[in-house]
Amino acid sequence: MLNIEKILVGGINIFSHPVCDQNNLFCGFTTRDGGSSRKPFDSLNLAYHVGDDDKSVCKNRQLIINKLLGPGPEYIYSALQVHGDNVLYVDRYTGHKDGNIPIEADSLITNKSNVPIMVLGADCNLIIIIDMKEKAIGVVHAGWKGTFNGVLGKTLFEFKKHFNSSPENILVFFGPSIRKCCYKVGSMLIDSFRGKFCGEDYYYKSGKDFFLDIIKLNLIHLKDFGIQKDNIVDIRQCTSCSNGFFSYRREKDTGRQAAIAMIH
Ligand SMILES: [Zn+2]
Repeated sequence: MLNIEKILVGGINIFSHPVCDQNNLFCGFTTRDGGSSRKPFDSLNLAYHVGDDDKSVCKNRQLIINKLLGPGPEYIYSALQVHGDNVLYVDRYTGHKDGNIPIEADSLITNKSNVPIMVLGADCNLIIIIDMKEKAIGVVHAGWKGTFNGVLGKTLFEFKKHFNSSPENILVFFGPSIRKCCYKVGSMLIDSFRGKFCGEDYYYKSGKDFFLDIIKLNLIHLKDFGIQKDNIVDIRQCTSCSNGFFSYRREKDTGRQAAIAMIH
C-alpha cells in the first residue's frame, strides 16, 4: 500500500493518497496553509465555531470547493461535532445554510456523488474511510472521547448497514492528530481505557507522566471489524509538534484542519 503524500493542488497543500484520484474520489487532509484567516486562525481555518471571522471561513471553504472539489458541489457538509458516536448519512437534501447540518454527529457517511463531507479537528484524530467496491465514503472525528465511545467501529457498522460493505474492500486513512509523542494524559483516563480496552500497548509511562496513543486504540476497532493491516494507511503527522497544523493543546485559540472526502 502506498503512502499518504503531501501534494499541492490549486495552490493548496493537502495530504492525499494516490488511490483516491485513480478511483474518481477526492479525499484529503488539509493543513493550516493557503487560506485567508488572520492570526491566530491563520490561515486555512475551516471551522465557524472557533471565533474566526465568518467571512474568512466561508472564503476558505469556497476555496476548497473551487480548487479541490469543483465543479459540482455547492457546499461542504459538516455536522455539529460533540465528541460523540453518532453517525450521519448525508445526501444533498441533508444540507443547510453553508452546508452546516444542525445535527450532532462526529461521523458522516455517503454514497452520493458531489456531496463533499467534512470533519474538523485540531489534535483530535481525523479519519477517512472508503469502500472501494460499493463506492461509499466516510469521515470520522475521533478524539479520546469518540475513540472511547467507539465512533470508528460504529461508522464501520453503518457502512455494513447502508452500503453492504465487506472489510476486505474498505480502506482507512488516519490523518493528522496529536500523537503519543505529545499526548500527555492523566492516570485516571488511562484507568478508564484499561477498563474497556485489552492490551497495554496504547499508552506508555515516562517518569510520572502517561502518554496515550489514540491511533493504536482505533486500530483495535478496525481489527474487530476485520480490516487488514494492508488496508490501513497512517499519515504519521503529529499536530502538536509540527508547525503545519492547528493544535488546540499547543495554542488553545486556533483554527481547525479538516478531513474531506467526495465521490466525483
Ligand atoms: Zn508530537
